[in-house]
Amino acid sequence: MTLQVNDIQISSIAKAVERIRNTIPPEVLLLAAAKTRSLEEVKAVVRAGVTHIGYNYIQEAIPIIQAVGSTATWHMIGHLQRNKAKLAAQYFDVIETVDSWRLAQALDVRCAELEKTMPVLIEINSGHEPSKTGVMPEEVDKLVERMSALRHIHVEGLMTMGPRFGDPEDSRPYFKTTRQAFERLAAKNLPNVTMRYLSMGMSNSYRIAIEEGTNIVRIGTSLFGER
Ligand SMILES: *Cc1c(COP(=O)(O)O)cnc(C)c1O
Repeated sequence: MTLQVNDIQISSIAKAVERIRNTIPPEVLLLAAAKTRSLEEVKAVVRAGVTHIGYNYIQEAIPIIQAVGSTATWHMIGHLQRNKAKLAAQYFDVIETVDSWRLAQALDVRCAELEKTMPVLIEINSGHEPSKTGVMPEEVDKLVERMSALRHIHVEGLMTMGPRFGDPEDSRPYFKTTRQAFERLAAKNLPNVTMRYLSMGMSNSYRIAIEEGTNIVRIGTSLFGER
C-alpha cells in the first residue's frame, strides 16, 4: 500500500509531538498553535495527545472547533477585538490575550450572558514595543486589580510573545520580565485572581521559556512544519 502525502504528514506530526514531549517536563502544558493548519492536521495533533489548541483568529477557529469539539481545550492566542468578544466567549475555553480594561469588561458581559466563567490570561508587552499588543509590564497590576471585581472572567496568569526569530537567548529578558510580573501579582493574593499559568515560548524559544518558569508553551512550526 502506498502512503498518501497526507498520511506522511500526519505520522510526522505524531513523531514531532513525541520529540517535543521528550524535551519538556511533564507539568508543562504543550499547546499546539494551529493557525493556517488544516482540520486533518489539527485532528492528528489531538490524536497524538495534544489537547490544548491555540488560534489567533476567531473566524478561522470556529469551523475547526465545531468539527473537533470538546475533546480539546481551545485557547485564543491572537489579539482579540472587543467586537469579537461575544464569539470568543461562545467558542473558546481560555482567552490568553486580554490586554485592556474595555476588552475585559466586554468579555465579562458576554460570559455573563452565557452563564459561564472564562479563565483568562493577560497578554504582556514584555518588550515595551509600541507596535505590539499587550499591556505594558508596569500597567498590568492596575489592570488585574480592576479585573478582580469582574465575576464572569477569572484571571489565571500571564502570556507574552517575545521575538519569534533570531537567537533564542534574545527572548530571555522578555520571559524574565513577564515572570517577575507574574510573581508580583501572585504575592498580592487578589480576590478572584489565581496566578496559575505562564504562557511563554514558541518553537525557537520554548526551552528558554521553560528555564524561566513557563508552564504553557505554544508551538506551531516544530509540530506541524513550516507554514
Ligand atoms: C504562531 C504562534 C505561536 C507558535 O509559533 P511557532 O514559531 O510557529 O512555534 C505561538 N504563539 C502565538 C501567539 C502565535 O501566533
